Amino acid sequence: MYNQKAIAAAFAAASADRSRALAVAIERKEQIEQQYPRMAAIARELSDIGASIAKTFYSQNPQQSVDALAVESLRLQEERKALLESLDLPQDYLEPQFYCKTCSDTGRVEGKLCNCIKQRAIDYSLEELARISPSERCSFENFDLAYYKNITDQSGKSVYEKAKANLEYLKAYSEDFSEHSKSLYLFGKTGLGKTHLTLAAAKAVIRKGYDVVYGMAGAVFADIEKEKFKSLEGKYTMQRLLEADLLILDDLGSEFQTSFSAAVAHNIIEGRLLAGKPVIITTNLDIDGIHSQYGERIASRIIGEYVPIKFEGNDVRQLRKFRY
Ligand SMILES: [Zn+2]
Repeated sequence: MYNQKAIAAAFAAASADRSRALAVAIERKEQIEQQYPRMAAIARELSDIGASIAKTFYSQNPQQSVDALAVESLRLQEERKALLESLDLPQDYLEPQFYCKTCSDTGRVEGKLCNCIKQRAIDYSLEELARISPSERCSFENFDLAYYKNITDQSGKSVYEKAKANLEYLKAYSEDFSEHSKSLYLFGKTGLGKTHLTLAAAKAVIRKGYDVVYGMAGAVFADIEKEKFKSLEGKYTMQRLLEADLLILDDLGSEFQTSFSAAVAHNIIEGRLLAGKPVIITTNLDIDGIHSQYGERIASRIIGEYVPIKFEGNDVRQLRKFRY
C-alpha cells in the first residue's frame, strides 16, 4: 500500500504546512501584543498560572489552590476572547491554523498515518501519473461509448456491446482491486481505448491507496537497460517494477526489439507472477504476435495467467479519437 516516495512527499508537504502555520501564529501573536499591550499581559499571566499550578503540588491544600488558579485562568481567557471579539477577530485567531485539524500537520495520530497523509500521497501519485501520461483526460466517466456504435468488427457488426463490456470489466476490476487481483491482457488495434481504460483504472486503484507503477513498455525497458549497463537508476528500476501493487505496461511490443528487451519482459512477467502481483498489459499484439516477439514461455504465461480483454474494431477512419 502507498508508494513510499509519495508518502515521503506527503510528510514533507505536511511539515511545511505545519511550520508555516506555527510561524503565522507567532507573527499574529507578536503583532497583536504590540498593538494591544493588555494581550501581552494576559498571555504572561496565563503562563504564570501554568507555572503556579505545578507548584501547588507542594502547598497545604493543593485542590483549593488549583481551583482558585483555574478560576483566574478562565477569567483571563474570557477577557482575551472579549478583546478578540471587539477587534472583529475569530476566537482561534492566535492558534496555529493547521491544514489538518486531526494531526496538526504532524502526519500521525496515535502512531498511525493520518488520513491527510494518505490523501496527500494519493494526490502526489496522481500528479506523477499525469506527468507521464494523458491520465487527466482519461476516466471511466468520459469513456464515450457512443463513439463505438460507428466502429464495426470484421463481420460488420457494431463493437458497442463489446466496448461497453470492457468498460464495465475495468471499472469493476479497479473497484475490487487488491494486491492479489488477476493480471489483465488488453489487446486490439490502436485507437480503441485500451490506454484510456487502463489509465482510468490506474487512477481508481491509486485512489484506493495502492502503489501503481505505470510505464510505456519502451520507456520501462530503456530504463532497465540503463540500470543494468550503466548502473544508473532510472525511473523504473527493476525493484519498483516488482514491488508495486499494480504494474501497468502500456503498449507492449512497440518498443525497440532486442534480445535484452525480450529478456526484461520475461523477467518482469515471471517476477510479478512469482510475487503473486498483478500486471496490466496493453498491446496491439494478439497471442500469436506475443509468441513470435517474446517467445513461447511468455505467450503461455499470458494465456495461462492473464485475463484476456479484446478490443475489437476495424474502422480505422474512426480511430482518431483515442490516440492514447
Ligand atoms: Zn492529518
